[in-house]
Amino acid sequence: MTTNNFVKDKVVLVTGAGGGIGRDFALALGSQGAKVIVNDIGASVQGEGLDASRAQAVVDEIVQAGGVAVANTDSVSDWDAANRMVTQAVETYGRIDAVINNAGILRDRFFFNMSVEEWRAVIDVHLNGAFYVSRAAAPHFKSQGSGSYVHMVSTSGLIGNFGQANYGAAKLGMAALSKCIAMDMSKFNVRSNCIAPFAWSRMIGSIPTDTPEQKARVERLQRMETAKIAPLAVYLVSDKAADVTGQVFAVRANEIFLMSQSRPLRGMHNSEGWTPEMIAERAIPAMRSNFYRLDRSQDVFDWDPV
Ligand code: NAD
Repeated sequence: MTTNNFVKDKVVLVTGAGGGIGRDFALALGSQGAKVIVNDIGASVQGEGLDASRAQAVVDEIVQAGGVAVANTDSVSDWDAANRMVTQAVETYGRIDAVINNAGILRDRFFFNMSVEEWRAVIDVHLNGAFYVSRAAAPHFKSQGSGSYVHMVSTSGLIGNFGQANYGAAKLGMAALSKCIAMDMSKFNVRSNCIAPFAWSRMIGSIPTDTPEQKARVERLQRMETAKIAPLAVYLVSDKAADVTGQVFAVRANEIFLMSQSRPLRGMHNSEGWTPEMIAERAIPAMRSNFYRLDRSQDVFDWDPV
């Protein structure tokens, strides 16, 4: 493992770091001098089952390569457990410098069939989990006058996708959470940014391959390695990113993007106010050419990963 001490002695909590993208975050941070809290409950993609050995296996890899890390197997979707993770970081390494909210599950289902349980499970891990872990670290960041949050969001929320009402809502919610954290905590020198990754992990492995079109898409997705997301996360944790906050990035293989944030596209004004009829006759026709289509992520990112 090569080291360049880019994040030397930074204490970083990475949630869901027992596999996939999070594991590569933990390995990259460990190789660049950080002290890593490797959190993972060791769940299935659907969030079921517990396997404490997955977080420990990543810790072992980091330590064998000469890095510093400790395992944590608490669930992000529990407020007390989220506080325990942060307490463990502070008790083990004396401080906490960054939180990477990466833990995630999927419970895909078309909206009209989605159960309340499927909705809640996904919101609990992604949106509530990101709040709990971020909020638990906030007093430490505030009192030390520094800190970096990195939240893993998704183009399923930023753009849209079929069968992911729960996941899309949670991920767009996390982008809003990040922006509001960035605003509330800027006076304490605390930063908050998002990454929408595209990576071949077991999470995308659940994408159906029933049609030739779906099969071809999955073959393209397999080129996107999870380790390609880590350099941006390491950078955002580092002091080199001191002036980077409130942003949403995307990473796909060797491509890196700054994503847009919502702004008015087209305005109409009527000094008398509007009636429903006038909206139908004047406002909507003027705006229609700016309407967004029902694009999915792959309709917007419609070229092969580079
Ligand atoms: P993954 O399933 O390989 O990893 C997620 C990890 O989170 C698993 O190890 C799992 O055990 C852990 N986890 C689940 N529930 C947890 C909980 N309650 N507490 C602690 N850990 C928990 O998936 P991945 O593809 O590596 O995804 C990482 C993140 O990136 C997720 O937030 C995901 O939504 C996001 N994301 C991934 C992609 C992609 O292309 N892979 C695209 C967009 C967003």
